[in-house]
Amino acid sequence: MGRTGPDRRAILTGALAGAIAAPAAAASRKPPAISRNLPDVVVVGAGAFGGWTALELVERGARTTLVDLYGPGNPRAASGDESRLIRASYGDREIYTRWASEAFDLWHQRQEEFGRRVIYANGSLRVVSPAALAAQQPIFERLGLPLEILTPEEAHARWPQVRYDDAETVIFEPKSGAVKARESMIAVAETFQAKGGTVRVGHARPGAAAGGKLSQILVDDEPLSAGLFIFACGPWLPKVFPELLGDRIRVPRREIFYIGSPPHDRRYRWEHFPNLADPLAYTAADIDYGTKIAARLPDTAMDPDDGERMPTPFLAEQVKDYVARRLPGLVGQPVVAARVCQTEYSDNNHYIIDKHPQWSNAWITGAGSGHAFKMGPVLGRNIADWALGAERPPELAALFSLSAHGPAVGGQTRD
Ligand SMILES: Cc1cc2nc3c(=O)[nH]c(=O)nc-3n(C[C@H](O)[C@H](O)[C@H](O)COP(=O)(O)OP(=O)(O)OC[C@H]3O[C@@H](n4cnc5c(N)ncnc54)[C@H](O)[C@@H]3O)c2cc1C
Repeated sequence: MGRTGPDRRAILTGALAGAIAAPAAAASRKPPAISRNLPDVVVVGAGAFGGWTALELVERGARTTLVDLYGPGNPRAASGDESRLIRASYGDREIYTRWASEAFDLWHQRQEEFGRRVIYANGSLRVVSPAALAAQQPIFERLGLPLEILTPEEAHARWPQVRYDDAETVIFEPKSGAVKARESMIAVAETFQAKGGTVRVGHARPGAAAGGKLSQILVDDEPLSAGLFIFACGPWLPKVFPELLGDRIRVPRREIFYIGSPPHDRRYRWEHFPNLADPLAYTAADIDYGTKIAARLPDTAMDPDDGERMPTPFLAEQVKDYVARRLPGLVGQPVVAARVCQTEYSDNNHYIIDKHPQWSNAWITGAGSGHAFKMGPVLGRNIADWALGAERPPELAALFSLSAHGPAVGGQTRD
């Protein structure tokens, strides 16, 4: 590790400093109160759920070990890709709009702390249905979040790089953008270690339990005891708890393609172009890696350990069809990179954050359902609070409870 050296910090004092400073309106992140009477904690999984939770726990003074099978930011993890989108438009699901807005501010603050650039606030353009807009607009107004409703002509006049059909309604959400995924998870783990946390690479599974509590896990068959356990194993959760979660989380394959720009064409870079979402695909503007376009793939199960990660040629063609329709300036440009990931969906696209039904000191957190990466800083803060005994708002306890989730087969995918 040790990537947060002075060279990275120097970046912040250079030309980028103004652009990456936390937004002026953002509330400062209050450091959590440090307590001396906390249990030792083991967090299993160093992705968006586990990495941020471990960081928040060590900041509260808990002796915390973060165990990951392949290491923070690994390419099999759902959090291991190049980038992830952050946007607050969630139709009528206000809790996620709130959290995304909070997370946006926290990402900026954490970025300062990490000393490396991880968030790019380039805004997002989204094609919405009248029903989604009617649900979303009052929520944005209530929360004071900026939202612009554009005709296709207005959108095209502002960003000639994109082409919309006449009948489409487009919204522009300025307080949104993209975050570096794998790099952020490495930064989170490094910061966790710098604050006294321990990172271990190993395969964890539940071990001995007594009196309604889990006493230890086995890491590569060696016991590791603690007073509190957080299982944040993402798409592996059904493998770790097959009886409990085998049918509650489904794990489909996803393919992402990055299209290069011509050498002297900067129009599709994040400085000049927002991210896009519409019923056909979603994209992220070029952050030194090409324009990211997600292929639309019907749910195909993927094993997170053994799944081959070679992109599928017909999906590359599908992405090029999308380019021809939406992004004419990129027609004929090459695929410069591709990533194959799997993701993890619950039946209703709400997360699972709950205690294990048999062990009162073990939590299960995950089922990110295509939208958890952006929430990392908020998830970590809340999960750390709740696991250490803070009262959960009853509506959130109910929303994220295991019992609120049925079999995930055939659930609607909303990423
Ligand atoms: C293609 C794609 C696009 C997405 N786009 C977005 C987006 O734009 N915005 C957004 O907010 N979200 C997005 N998501 C969703 C988001 O990335 C995920 O919901 C989130 O990253 C899941 O984090 P996690 O911590 O649950 O899982 P992971 O990141 O997979 O982390 C789980 C970790 O647990 C470890 N592990 C597993 N089993 C064990 C074990 N037995 N012992 C030890 N360690 C173990 C793994 O090695 C892994 O590192 C997207 C997901 C995908 C796949």
